[in-house]
Amino acid sequence: MNFTSFNPPVRTLMGPGPSDVHPRVLTAMARPTIGHLDPAFVAMMEEIKALLQYAFQTSNALTIPISAPASAGMEACFVNLVEPGEKVIVCINGVFGGRMKENVERSGGVPIVVDDAWGEPVDPNKLDDALKAHRDARIVAFVHAETSTGVQSDARKLAEIAHHHDCLAIVDTVTSLGGSPLKVDEWDLDAVFSGSQKCLSCPPGLSPVTFNDRAVDKIKKRNTKIQSWFLDLNLVMGYWGSGKRAYHHTAPVNQLYGLHEALAMLQEEGLENAWTRHQQQHHALRSGIEAMGLSFLVHPSARLPQLNAIMVPEGVDEAMLRSRLLNEYNLEIGAGLGELAGKIVRIGLMGYGANMKNVMYCLEALEAVLADMRAPIRTGVAMNAAQSAAVLN
Ligand SMILES: *Cc1c(COP(=O)(O)O)cnc(C)c1O
Repeated sequence: MNFTSFNPPVRTLMGPGPSDVHPRVLTAMARPTIGHLDPAFVAMMEEIKALLQYAFQTSNALTIPISAPASAGMEACFVNLVEPGEKVIVCINGVFGGRMKENVERSGGVPIVVDDAWGEPVDPNKLDDALKAHRDARIVAFVHAETSTGVQSDARKLAEIAHHHDCLAIVDTVTSLGGSPLKVDEWDLDAVFSGSQKCLSCPPGLSPVTFNDRAVDKIKKRNTKIQSWFLDLNLVMGYWGSGKRAYHHTAPVNQLYGLHEALAMLQEEGLENAWTRHQQQHHALRSGIEAMGLSFLVHPSARLPQLNAIMVPEGVDEAMLRSRLLNEYNLEIGAGLGELAGKIVRIGLMGYGANMKNVMYCLEALEAVLADMRAPIRTGVAMNAAQSAAVLN
């Protein structure tokens, strides 16, 4: 064998994540590795905690990145909060709600499912009904930004209903963090997890989480030992806490340089400005997409700006469309999942990738390939429509 360096192709990432990583983040990650208990590194960890509090809009002390992908942040919420035999209401309106149900079962809990159609937000009335029918439930779980469909649910309202029935709310904010309004304290969300590779524009592999006092209290009062050693927050806090640090695992040092840089950039831009930028770029993309004659899966009232689910025109082979965009344009967009496979494509406008260059490039490539595939679209109008929409902002 004679393998040499791996040089990845240079792609434009406009799928459901990972999104384009900012060069500043990649540069930060190439800085020298130091010891994970080095005082300089510990000081940086403290800054990351403060920057994450800003990004989540919370003052929760337990606000840290878990050293693993977002699915591990999800698992951390369930293994720490769910005790064997406990009922958990899980709202499912896409892929990630289904994954949360799996987590409840594997944590020994009993999932009670509230089902909504893929492409629709979670219905607060159905949640309320489920809670009335299961008065012994103590936890509600839902996805704020469902990346599989491009749908946003009303996290504040759902958490309010959960609290009304004396339940804690576990919330998936993997795709919302940094991309659209998320206010952990104001909305009173109890246990929240996210990811690094969506609207924070970092590579994948870290999962920011935040737990409020109510959630921490429930963990402290558990009757049973947490079945995961790695994700046991009592142990993780000995490592990430503010006191003397006890070795737990070796933090991914350079990965955390990247997260620090991305969060510092978010602070420089201003969180509200980042939310507005995602909305504006979505507006431009949408204008171009609709000018072509294509339509969206999701009703405008529940559409995520950072994840655009677009109906594939009649007669177009969706897999062929995506592979041609990748091969001919180095452009990655996402496939539909589950029941939406073959029916939609998913265009991400996440973090650094939510910019006019990406919007225009995507519209241009999409129009060229769709026209070549003889799809029934209007040509020659999308770019102008996007440009006018951008100017109007
Ligand atoms: C991407 C995503 C996840 C999983 O993230 P991984 O980093 O792949 O583990 C979970 N929930 C939502 C809503 C996501 O978009």
